[in-house]
Amino acid sequence: MSYTVAIVGRPNVGKSTFFNRLLEQRKAIVEDTPGVTRDRQYGIAEWAGKQFNVIDTGGFVPDSKDVFEREIRKQVQIAIDEASAIIFVVDVTTGITSLDDAMAEMLRRATKPVFLMVNKVDNSARSLEAAEFYGLGFDEVFYVSSMSGSGTGEILDAITNLI
Ligand code: GDP
Ligand code: MG
Repeated sequence: MSYTVAIVGRPNVGKSTFFNRLLEQRKAIVEDTPGVTRDRQYGIAEWAGKQFNVIDTGGFVPDSKDVFEREIRKQVQIAIDEASAIIFVVDVTTGITSLDDAMAEMLRRATKPVFLMVNKVDNSARSLEAAEFYGLGFDEVFYVSSMSGSGTGEILDAITNLI
C-alpha cells in the first residue's frame, strides 16, 4: 500500500477532526512511526474497499508569528514532497485568510492532485458562504462538515478514484 494523502491547512480549520473521522473507518491503528517528528500523525484509512495512508500535519506549537509561518510552509512542502495527493482544509466560518492564500499559492504549484476541503459547512447557509473558496483556484472543491460527517463521502470517493 503506497498511496498517501496529506491533510494540510492552517491551525483550527478542523484537520485533526477530519483525520480522526477517517480513522473511524480504519482497518489499522495510528502508530508512532520511527524517525517521524511528532508534529505529524500517521494513520491508515479505508474507503470503497481501498486502503491509503493519511498524514495529519500541523500539531506543532509555534512560539512566534515568524516561526508559525515558517512551520506551516515546511509542513506544506513536506506534504507536497511525500504525499500522493493533498487535502487542503479551509474554514468556512473565517472565510479566506492571508495564510490560506499563501498556502494556496504553494499548493497550486504542486504537481500532485489537490482537493480543497471547505470544512465546517454544517448547514445550508454555510454552503452558500463556502462558494467564495472557489476563488482560491482549485478545480476540486468539497464542502464538508467533519463534525457531522456530511460531505465526507464525496471527497473520499474522489480521492479513492485516483487509487
Ligand atoms: P486543526 O487544528 O486543523 O487540526 O483543527 P481541529 O480538528 O483541532 O479543530 C479545531 C476546532 O474546530 C475544534 O473545536 C473542532 O471541534 C472544530 N471543528 C472541526 N470540524 C468542524 C466542523 O465540521 N464543524 C464545526 N462547527 N466545527 C468543527
Ligand atoms: Mg490538528
